[in-house]
Formats: sequence, C-alpha cells, structure tokens
Amino acid sequence: SEPLRQQRVTVLGATGSIGTNTLDVIARHPERYRVHALTAQRSREALLGLCLRHHPEVVVLGEEADAAWLRERLSQAGLGTEVRAGEAALVEVACEAQVDVVMAAIVGAAGLLPTLAAVRAGKRVLLANKEALVMSGALFMDAVARHGATLLPIDSEHNAIYQCLPSEHRGGLSRHGVTQLLLTASGGPFRGWTRERLATVTPEQACAHPNWSMGRKISVDSATLMNKGLELIEACWLFDARPEQVQVVVHPQSVIHSMAAYSDGSVLAQLGNPDMRTPIAYGLAWPERIEAGVEALDLFQIARLDFEAPDEVAFPCLRLAREAMREGGTAPAVLNGANEVAVDAFLAGRLSFPGIAELVAATLEALPVEAGGDLESILDADARARQAARGWLERH
Ligand code: NAD
Ligand code: MG
Repeated sequence: SEPLRQQRVTVLGATGSIGTNTLDVIARHPERYRVHALTAQRSREALLGLCLRHHPEVVVLGEEADAAWLRERLSQAGLGTEVRAGEAALVEVACEAQVDVVMAAIVGAAGLLPTLAAVRAGKRVLLANKEALVMSGALFMDAVARHGATLLPIDSEHNAIYQCLPSEHRGGLSRHGVTQLLLTASGGPFRGWTRERLATVTPEQACAHPNWSMGRKISVDSATLMNKGLELIEACWLFDARPEQVQVVVHPQSVIHSMAAYSDGSVLAQLGNPDMRTPIAYGLAWPERIEAGVEALDLFQIARLDFEAPDEVAFPCLRLAREAMREGGTAPAVLNGANEVAVDAFLAGRLSFPGIAELVAATLEALPVEAGGDLESILDADARARQAARGWLERH
C-alpha cells in the first residue's frame, strides 16, 4: 500500500477541552498526523506541557509577556519551538502554506478571523467553534465554496447529521429526500426545572454537565439551551436547512447524537458514547475511519433511550436563536455577542441565570437588523451588541 503523507495540523485553542481531545487522537496516529502549531490565550503552563509532549513548530499566546515566559522555558528544555503572540499570529498559523488541517477550537467570536483565514486558504477545517459560523453564516459558507475548503463539523450533533446525510447534500435538503434534521439535546443539568427554581442557579451548578466535560462557556450555554439555539443556526448554514426543518429533541442519555429524517419514512441516527474524540477522529480521517480511544457502546448497559420536547418557556434562549435565524442578516451575530457578555457576567456572579435570556432578548430588541453580507458589518454588529449588553448590565 502507498505510504501515508503526514498531515500537518494546527490546533487553535489547543489547551481547551476540544483542543486536548484533538491532541489525544493525533497522538494515537503519529504516522498520519504531525502538529504544526498550537495556540492558547492565557494558559502558558498548559501550553508548555503540550509543547513538551507534541513538539509543535510554532505556538501562539495572546500576550507577549506570556510568550516571553514560554520562550525561556522552551529553550531551557532544549526545544526549538517558535513562540508568537497576538491575533495576527493566530491568523498566520491558521493559513500558513505547510498546514493541511486546522482544528478551529477557540471559544466564541475570538475564533472568527483565524477560522475564516483557514477557510480562505482552502484548508481542511474542523469546525468546533460554532460561534464563528453563527456570526458570519452566509459569508463563511460562501468562502468555503469559493476557496475549495473542506469543512467538517465537529460539534457532535452536526457531525452525526453529516454522517446521516448522503455524501453529496448541497443544493437543499429536499433535493436529497431529507425532510427534517432531528437535533438531539441532553437538556442540560436543569432539565425539568421550573422558572422559579432556575432563578437560584449558581455558576458551579451550571458548569456541572451530566454527560459531557466541556469549557465553561459552552457548559453555561448547554444549561440555558442557548447552545442548542446556536446549534440550530449552525445546522441551517452547514446543511442548507430552514429553521423549520430543524427539530430539537431532548434525549437525556446523549447516545443518539442527532438524526436525519427522509421522505420515505426512514430516520438515520448516529450513536456512540458521549466522547468528543469520535467526531474529532471522524473529521481528521474523513473519508476514512481511525481508532479514537473511545469505549465501545454497550447498549445493554444503556438499556433505554428517552425523548421529550424542549421547554421553551423555562429556557427561552432556544426560541431567541430560532427567531434570530429567521430574521437573518446581523441578528445571529447580535444574539451571539449579547450571549457572550451575558455568560461572562453570569460566571462572574453579576447576572442571574434567567438574566442571560433577558439580556439577550433586550439586546436583540434594541438593535436594528442589518443585511450583514460583509465581514465589517458582522464585526460591527458584534461590537454594538456587546456595547448594548454592557449598558443593560449597568442599568440592571
Ligand atoms: P475551552 O474553554 O475549554 O477552550 C477554549 C480554548 O480557546 C482555550 O485553548 C483558550 O486558551 C482559547 N481561547 C479562549 N479565548 C481566546 C481568545 N480570546 N483568543 C484566542 N484563544 C482563546 O472551550 P471548549 O469547550 O474546548 O470549546 C471550544 C469551542 O468548541 C467552542 O466554540 C465550543 O462551543 C465548541 N464545542 C465544544 C464542545 C466540547 O465538548 N467542549 C463540543 C462541541 C463544540
Ligand atoms: Mg453540540
């Protein structure tokens, strides 16, 4: 058989939950993958540990002071890793010529520019950073087509749907006999709670997810169901679906990761243990399959699969996201920007749990929707949303 050419991988957000899971899968296949660059915002010690283990060519930190600290430690360790700092360096390592694959695993709007740079450079882009796509949907998907990038969804639900759709699914779902996408949701740690009880939720409770161990921002989003709202928008862009074609199904076991329903009555589902290494390995190796370190699914141990409708009264964020997608233009960018401010305020103890949805709704009401066809107007909508949300916080 032909020898494999090693793929060079940049991991944006390498110290995070998705980043470390990505490096775990990569380390299982040294003949296939080699780390080109790793990035982190502030976690210099964690990044040092990753350098010692994975020997990247380049690493990027947010601030020059942290970069200087890391340079010193790496030279003590005898490693020739180049250390860069700042946003321009993030964009560089996402689109450098020697890079084949970019894992986009920065959290939030901060990931937009480097992810878009990878797309415009025609890379294989593994998309975990859903906020980037939510903000810039039309522009992002247009850039994928225009620059011949290979976009593979890493969000477990979208990865599942990707696996359940025909390999060629462009040009609208109905052309391929798909009637609906069924987006499963665990329901988060507060499934079944009333609005009154939700008023008492603390950041620690919100970050203790029943089925997945994730970064703090996505953990809060999972608890408010904003994560499912962002995922609904993400599904519309990835699969050319209308919001009405995406049904959210609460499935507390998180074993079915999502489904596609067809006109002949067939429903295809992808199942597996809740472990992000499955979608990560799928994205890395597609169209092949590789071992990911994930335990085999034991259906007898799982025994049953439950389904229920989401409670959009107690969890209004899902509805807010669906409405923002229907409005289109800059509305999803405003939704996302306001949500990032709200989640930060909640984690800092300055906003109640139900306050997150209130703040997002108030921001969407306050700002007019614009067409948002270009990057500048998207970044502007994001900035205005953050400013309006901070103003609201000061008044409340
Ligand atoms: P995390 O908080 O664990 O890690 C975030 C990473 O991004 C870290 O490496 C951090 O240093 C870096 N980062 C943070 N702010 C930055 C900034 N301003 N500039 C540059 N880098 C910055 O987050 P995570 O849970 O790994 O999630 C990452 C992304 O993947 C999110 O968009 C999330 O929605 C998505 N995602 C995560 C999971 C999961 O299981 N964790 C599942 C699906 C999708
Ligand atoms: Mg998900």
